[in-house]
Amino acid sequence: PLANLADMVRERAKSRGNAVAYEFEGRATSFAEFDVKTNKVANALIAMGVKKGDRIAYLGKNSDVYFELLMGAMKAGVVMAPVNWRLAGPEVAFIVADCKAPVLFIGPEFITQVKQIKDQLPGVRTVITTEGGAPEWPDFTAWRDAQSGDDPKVAIDTKDIAIQLYTSGTTGKPKGAMLSHANFLNLVQTGNAEDKPEWNRWSTDDVSLVAMPIFHIGGSGWGVMGLYHGARGVIAREFDPTKVLDFFEQSGITKLFMVPAAMQFVVRQPRAKTVDFSRLKYMLYGASPIPAALLKECIEVFKCGFVQMYGMTETTGTIVALPPEDHVEGLVRMRSAGKALPGVEIAILDADGKPLPPREVGEIATRSGSNMAGYWNLPEATAATLRGDGWLRTGDAGYMDEDGYLYIHDRIKDMIISGGENIYPAEVESALCDHPDVAEAAVIGVPDDKWGEAVKAVVVMKPGKQATATDIINFTRTRIAGFKTPKSVEFLAALPRNPSGKILRRQLREPHWAGKD
Ligand code: ATP
Ligand code: MG
Repeated sequence: PLANLADMVRERAKSRGNAVAYEFEGRATSFAEFDVKTNKVANALIAMGVKKGDRIAYLGKNSDVYFELLMGAMKAGVVMAPVNWRLAGPEVAFIVADCKAPVLFIGPEFITQVKQIKDQLPGVRTVITTEGGAPEWPDFTAWRDAQSGDDPKVAIDTKDIAIQLYTSGTTGKPKGAMLSHANFLNLVQTGNAEDKPEWNRWSTDDVSLVAMPIFHIGGSGWGVMGLYHGARGVIAREFDPTKVLDFFEQSGITKLFMVPAAMQFVVRQPRAKTVDFSRLKYMLYGASPIPAALLKECIEVFKCGFVQMYGMTETTGTIVALPPEDHVEGLVRMRSAGKALPGVEIAILDADGKPLPPREVGEIATRSGSNMAGYWNLPEATAATLRGDGWLRTGDAGYMDEDGYLYIHDRIKDMIISGGENIYPAEVESALCDHPDVAEAAVIGVPDDKWGEAVKAVVVMKPGKQATATDIINFTRTRIAGFKTPKSVEFLAALPRNPSGKILRRQLREPHWAGKD
């Protein structure tokens, strides 16, 4: 077995040699070339005085350069911290400063922004552009190719940190989750377990699409997964539904990971009805709940195996999966997030941390080799999440059935307490989305003198459709209990979402709670 991901790159160069490791915008790199390029990156970092354990930051869209930097840094024992490029200048500055990166790598789209915030980045000694565009800053290719391609031979321990990935920032400020080599290897080698399910097996003929942003585990983790299995990766600069269809047609994608919001964009392209999906084996999806109608539509259009995944940045991604055979219409299980992967334990805990029996709702906790080492620079948040017993508190509420299927209710932070009853927004949103004219919905708690909190629905109608608040309330009342039914409805043109497609309920809540929390 491999001890670290740097060895993984060396091993794949031996076993896969001239096979294509990944392609990006017409440029292909073989596994053998990847090994040499990552050696050069490691040597270049060492030559600049970047030390083992230092962080480097990457502010850019998906690219082959990113994966060279990620794995090259690992060979030098340096930790990559990719930054969410959709963040505003001050938020970017916060993360770059937080991780204390002496070097910042930036894509061509961010040169102007970095010039504007440069004063707020006193720790950054060098800015390097990945595709040129700023004559005053060195460019990646020249920087890399000035170095020897010999192995830097830095000793890497399996417990060393491999990557620092910031959480999506759905419930608050993003936190830097430190993921070790062992965490990653645990995730990818689940595949080697005897009981590895068929959907989790890879062949070297697989072609995987890296369509989700690399600053989240669904992009970086998915990319590393393909490299580990010696498969060919196709890297999409950013998510674009028409390009995703092009990739299916031109590159023969066999598997990919997408978030439900992205699936919706792809499946609703008129061209999706005529594209040939016969090479597509599996579509893996997760990161937020999927509306039942959308899943049904995807099953009809893509005609492949579907696997739902539940996990978080802090667990190096997937810990629970719903396999294709449970994607059967009418099956209650299709509403669940699935079962724990081999080697993963899941427990449902009450407020005192005691395990609850099947079908009782509590906090989802997990234990496996994929649990992060901790949050960077946040000892209190780390202690609240990892309490020293090996179990990681997810902050999500849910229950498990007798067969070990996990049903996710919602985030504990988003739970609404109205008249002493606990209400999970996701359940109400799902009822609202059953309305034929509703495109999407978000549910929040707003202050209420009588009930403490009252349920409020924020609804986006389908194009050309209209409804009154009373219509929506009456429709919902036929599907869920009266105390869960919204007391008020607001209509919006779109919901605030983050790049993972997660609804930012806190943004909807803020105006109601200003000065009250
Ligand atoms: P932050 O922690 O900064 O608030 P975040 O929790 O959204 O952001 P991620 O680590 O990207 O950051 O997301 C993990 C969360 O996504 C989980 O805790 C869970 O709430 C949600 N999630 C993941 N998979 C699923 C799924 N299959 N169904 C429903 N929710 C999911
Ligand atoms: Mg979280």
